Amino acid sequence: MKTKDIFATSIAQGALTQPQTLRKNLLKDIELISRQDKLGREWSQANYGGGYTSYASLNNLHHRYPSFMELEKQLSKEAKIYAKKLGWNLKGLELRMTDCWANIMPQGTYHTLHFHPHSVMSGAFYVTTPPGSVALKLEDPRMSFYMNAPQGKPLYLEIPAEEGRFILFESWLRHEVPPNLSKKPRVSISFNYALETLD
Ligand code: FE
Repeated sequence: MKTKDIFATSIAQGALTQPQTLRKNLLKDIELISRQDKLGREWSQANYGGGYTSYASLNNLHHRYPSFMELEKQLSKEAKIYAKKLGWNLKGLELRMTDCWANIMPQGTYHTLHFHPHSVMSGAFYVTTPPGSVALKLEDPRMSFYMNAPQGKPLYLEIPAEEGRFILFESWLRHEVPPNLSKKPRVSISFNYALETLD
């Protein structure tokens, strides 16, 4: 008898080139952004307990700051390779970063389970991950269909947050960041890709 894995997805992980310089430049800009972004700080106060995210106020950082432009350039190369590995038919459309925002998570800040319905690919890049930085948690997409099926494998996969490294996954995959445990803030950048017409 043979068994065959079917209908699975995959995730991609890796490091970027010159991650130390990139991280340093990104961190400098994120600190500046968080100081200047009053709207974002107010939104975070209501929706991102104790932390700061530019998700609702400045979500196109890859068009605004050279450090983020460099990040976008490097990530987009990886995104194309990942799309190929997933076997996607892009139908002449271009895989393009549509949203890019920064997150500062002090101890205790968390982000509940969610997915990105308007995108095709999502991911994160880790800028600073002090000891105790909480992992990204991915949910088994078959979760709601298991009903009474006996389960052996864990239903969640934890991806450690590692400085200078990125993760890419399909946007329908539900994910969360449980309460952060590090004493110093965990800083990350989140982004989405969509398929757009070439122009
Ligand atoms: Fe997300």
